[in-house]
Amino acid sequence: MPTFISYRPHVLAGFLFFIQISWGWAQSHLHTTETCGHTKAWAQRLAHQETDDTGFDVKWYFLDLEASNADVSLSGSTTILVEATSALDEVVFELQRDYDVSSVTINGREAVFLHELDEVRILLAPEEPAGTLMEFEIFYSGAIPITGNFFQGINNAYSAQWDQRVTYTLSEPYNAYQWFAAKQVLTDKADSVWIHVTTPADQEVASNGIRQEPEILDEVRVTHKWKTNYPIAYYLISMTIGDYQEYNFTVEPEGENPIFVQNYIYDDPAVLEFYREDIDETADMLKLFSELFGAYPFSGEKYGHVQAPFGGGMEHQTMSLMGNFNFTLIAHELGHQWFGDYVTCGTWQDIWINEGFARYSEYLAIEKLIDRATAEEWRQDDVERILSENGGTVFVPESGADLPSRIFDFRLTYSKGGQLVHMLRHEINDDDLFFRVLREFVQRKAFATGTGDDFVEVLNELTEQDFTWFFEQWYYGGGFPIYDITWEDGADTVWIQSDQTGSYNGAPFFQGTLPFRLTLENGGQEIVRVFQSENNQKFAIPISDRVVDVEFDYENWILKEVNSVRRGGVVGIPLEYRASAKIYPQPATGGYVHLEGISSLSRVQVIDLQGRFHQISSVQEGERWRLDLSRLQAGMYQLRVEDELGGVSLPLVVR
Ligand SMILES: [Zn+2]
Ligand SMILES: [Zn+2]
Repeated sequence: MPTFISYRPHVLAGFLFFIQISWGWAQSHLHTTETCGHTKAWAQRLAHQETDDTGFDVKWYFLDLEASNADVSLSGSTTILVEATSALDEVVFELQRDYDVSSVTINGREAVFLHELDEVRILLAPEEPAGTLMEFEIFYSGAIPITGNFFQGINNAYSAQWDQRVTYTLSEPYNAYQWFAAKQVLTDKADSVWIHVTTPADQEVASNGIRQEPEILDEVRVTHKWKTNYPIAYYLISMTIGDYQEYNFTVEPEGENPIFVQNYIYDDPAVLEFYREDIDETADMLKLFSELFGAYPFSGEKYGHVQAPFGGGMEHQTMSLMGNFNFTLIAHELGHQWFGDYVTCGTWQDIWINEGFARYSEYLAIEKLIDRATAEEWRQDDVERILSENGGTVFVPESGADLPSRIFDFRLTYSKGGQLVHMLRHEINDDDLFFRVLREFVQRKAFATGTGDDFVEVLNELTEQDFTWFFEQWYYGGGFPIYDITWEDGADTVWIQSDQTGSYNGAPFFQGTLPFRLTLENGGQEIVRVFQSENNQKFAIPISDRVVDVEFDYENWILKEVNSVRRGGVVGIPLEYRASAKIYPQPATGGYVHLEGISSLSRVQVIDLQGRFHQISSVQEGERWRLDLSRLQAGMYQLRVEDELGGVSLPLVVR
């Protein structure tokens, strides 16, 4: 219990009075739950709500549990210090129904409670006014059934590779209630957490914050103690129990606090040998991310890894749970310490704040610590995955906010979420500014939560632009554009037209910057960027030399498909700009010529050298216009062709 708290005097209710109140209260609640079909949906509704209507603020959790790496059974208590933010006649925490709750106390005194439907409802009588500090302790024991689901609050698994058994917790998105009594509201971070876990003497426990001196209870049991004083979201509170050795080092990013890195790996010399080099990569990544995202947020405590036999990783604050030590997994979970932990998504619909940036952290680690080409190769997998289906949004729709499978949809939340960050970097087109936006967002939402809209606010402010359109189409909108690009070379201008269709019916029109690489006749190259704000838009780009080739999005920044990029066929360009307009064959010997590079012919005139007009027999429309010249005598002419925007005169020889 923290020593800085002094409780307000609590009125002790008389025994008989207490019984009466509790009986009536229990009846009304039992009735309520029956009639409105109260189910676990209550917990899930709470979990993604934007506003916290619980009426209290969690200050401190103290988990005091007995557990082991043999199975998921637990016994002990959760202590929760809360401050009432409005008058309260009850307080509700979530705790899975499979646990047996033996008692609940309020400030050390027995309380009346109900435990059903995964909720512990605690009666407050009399009502407590706003501002009251209360300490609840919920005593429970039992074990939840193991479902084999990845998303399970507490799990036990065996590594055949290393012959290790581990009990680990994984509470994201809202499964903390499967191992401790929790308030599962993202916006209410606990100010501090203590985690005490009593295990058999030969087991270790890894957790959040700083390890305290363990307490040897007797010859066979030891209590491991961890404390963290950084604000923490409920789902980042963790414990992992196994047979571990430590592999630790300190990293000193330039101009910042040294960071203690504490790794719990299986207690086997071969494991350290196997993973050591990979784990060592953490040092460079910590330096890199501190530079890109701002100083490591938890340097006063540590960063850590704990190994467990499961597929993937989990960014438990200051102690990531690791299924392996792949370069990208280390980068991902480390990136989460800024995006997810320091700043937590404000709703599960905004999981992009966590996973989009963690995914992009992988790219950044490869780009900056290996090289750009390798990063691009890595990114292609994501691009292909995203394009493998036509729709789907990064923002999780309301209908998906209760479904971990949708929240953590790999294609949309991770791949497309990361690609969104990449495209934003391209739109900003200034890495200094791009990373400044990231750092400012992280700073502004430090130890709190943020949404996609919160990010846009910072983005607009720092760039002095309005990126609402970008988020409308890439965050809230689904799908991607499919492009047909046409271009024409003029003597001093290159014309580029961008035609777009959506990847599915009803897909938004995608605005954005289109980058082109022009190859010039003199062999040089020029990069141009144009902003497309409407469909079928044409761009006249002044250029010093003739253009012989145009490549669209040559670095593949934009999430898209390209149907075609071709020369000729730009609609509505003044003809005098159309260097590609040509007549053939020349001379015309068969009584006709073809006219190419002209799309909307409105007038054709044939003029001889004396300035007289001549009739042509017919004009046949098409990709190549066919002009019937059978009426013309052999000689030299000027062929004048016009469309609605202008005309061009071309020499014509008839034999
Ligand atoms: Zn709080
Ligand atoms: Zn992640």
